[in-house]
Order: sequence, then structure tokens, then C-alpha cells
Amino acid sequence: MRPPENILEVLKNEDSFLILTHSTPDGDALGSSLALKFLLRELAKKAEIFTEQPIPSQYKFLPEIEKIKNIRELPLEAFKVLILVDCNNPSRVDNDKKLVEKIERFSGIKVIIDHHIEDKRGDFNAIKWIEPEEAATGIMIYKIIKAFGINLDYAMATALYTAIIIDTGNFQFDNTSEHVLTIAAELVRAGAKPSYIYEQSFESWSLNRFNLFVNMLTNVEITPPLAVGYLRKDDFEKTGTEESDTERFVEFLRTIKDVTIAALFREIEENFFKVSLRSKGSLDVNPIARAFGGGGHKNASGYRIRSSFEEAKNKLIEVLKSNQML
Ligand code: 5GP
Ligand code: MN
Repeated sequence: MRPPENILEVLKNEDSFLILTHSTPDGDALGSSLALKFLLRELAKKAEIFTEQPIPSQYKFLPEIEKIKNIRELPLEAFKVLILVDCNNPSRVDNDKKLVEKIERFSGIKVIIDHHIEDKRGDFNAIKWIEPEEAATGIMIYKIIKAFGINLDYAMATALYTAIIIDTGNFQFDNTSEHVLTIAAELVRAGAKPSYIYEQSFESWSLNRFNLFVNMLTNVEITPPLAVGYLRKDDFEKTGTEESDTERFVEFLRTIKDVTIAALFREIEENFFKVSLRSKGSLDVNPIARAFGGGGHKNASGYRIRSSFEEAKNKLIEVLKSNQML
């Protein structure tokens, strides 16, 4: 679908934009935010991105990533328009409730550009463009750039190509379509370098991150069709890593033939877990994540839960059973 006119109008008519995305930003969140900022600059507008810090090291290669500011120092009053990119509810922007409330109270124009299934909780009252059928928010930003008739430059192409490969697993997930590959080809024509971006995004793990991965593998419980991975706070401390170092770990749990559902529990604080769910083919884990107040997509969703690991795992098994998935 073409970008809605009301979104294009806001971008055309306003002059100062604050771009925010979800916490633990991934390649789609960062790439989409950067490409949108590059477009706004082409349109001679003021635009700034604020995210959680530090930025995961695998994205340090993205053009102008160093200009992204810390969400803890957010001067909301300085902007007329707030754009949420790659998430559709302010609660996803940060784990700090006070900060989320501050964002919810933003008095200017609010815009949402996202490809996650809509989370209707709360009353954010934004102009929305939400397309769960799109593989990445990067594709939606690409369409906005095209709608303005602007030529893709190297920085835009690199940011958008990164967004797409992160959300399609380098063109391997179910969401990889002719449409996605056609746009990716155009990004390559505009200067994006596939092998460079792949290496930076997927093959630049620190040794610490690899050690954390080894820890996850020693904790895996495989009872097909389910595989459960578990990382304690202690695993992060011992290996000198953080949550963002677990990006893509859960996908490895899905590589076993008879495993169609994978779950990774990460202990962020004592008895507080972030849970990543993955599934194969037509199996839909989104309702499972939603049952716990989370969300995402059919084959990749997540939620947060406060409890012990055993209790959290048992609750997940219960919900999977009641959805006839186990
Ligand atoms: P990941 O498991 O890689 O963190 O996230 C997979 C997908 O689920 C992403 O699209 C992400 O935005 C979504 N997701 C992860 N955690 C949460 C959560 O706590 N709430 C919601 N609404 N979505 C989540
Ligand atoms: Mn995304």
C-alpha cells in the first residue's frame, strides 16, 4: 500500500521531528529511523533520533548512528511532531514507566509508522500507518521516500537494506516475498553492499557474546515441538554482556527439525524476564505473546514477565497447550 496522504502531509508541512523507536532497538528500528531522518533532512527539516543507549555494537557501522541521542535526555518540548517508528505503542519505547508517561503526554502531532500488529491499549491518539503485512518498517520508509520522489542515496540504501535483512533473517523468513526482494535489489542499485552489511550485522559478534551463546546452549531444554533457552542475570555478568547481545539467539533454537516453537527467557532483573518466541510456517505465536501482554508478528513475538524462571516457563507451556500448540 502507498503511504497515507495524512502522513505525507505532516512530513511536508511541519518542520521539526522527533523520531523514537522501541527499546532494545534492532536493525529495523535503527535503519528505519535513520532513513526517515535522512529523508527529512533532504526535505530541509529538523529531525533527531533518541533511543536507549548503548546502541548494540553490530549497528555501529550504520551511517550517522553516532548522532543518535540518549532517550534519558529527551527534550520533548523542542519538537512539533513525534514519530514512533517500528513500534505502535509508547509503552514499547522504554521500560521506564515515567518516561513512557512523559511521551504519552506529548502535546504536538503524533505519528506512528509500523509493521507490528496493532497494540490498541492506551489512548495515544496518533496519525497511524500500520501494515502488519510488510516484512519490515524499512519497506514503509522506502515507500515514503519514493512518494516524495527523492533519489535513494548510499546512506538511505544502507540503512534500509539493514532494516530489511534483520527482519527477514537475511531473506530467509516466511515474510521474504518478491516485493521484498525487488525493493532490496533497488537498494543494492542505490549503493547498499549486501555482503558488507551482512558481515557487520550478523558476523561481528564479540567473543563475550559468543561465550554468552555457549551458555545459552548449555541451558537449552528440547522437548519437540518446543525448545526453551534460558539466560540468567549471572550469565550476562559472567560473560560481560547485555541483553542486546542475545539478538538472533532464539533463531538458533528453531534450527532443529522437529522444533517448531522456540522460546528464549532472558533475566533482565531478578525474576523479570524478557521472552522471545519464534515459530515455523503457519504456527502463530502472536496470540501467545499477547496472552502475556506482549505482541509482535506471526513467527516472531515477545513479552515480559515478572516471576521465577520455572513459573514463567510453566505458564508458557500452559498457554501453548490451551492454544493447541503443544
Ligand atoms: P524479539 O524476540 O526479537 O525481541 O522480538 C520479536 C518481535 O516481537 C519484534 O517484532 C518485537 O517488536 C516484538 N516484541 C518483543 N517483545 C515485545 C513486548 O514485550 N511487547 C510487544 N508488544 N512486542 C514485543
Ligand atoms: Mn521491524
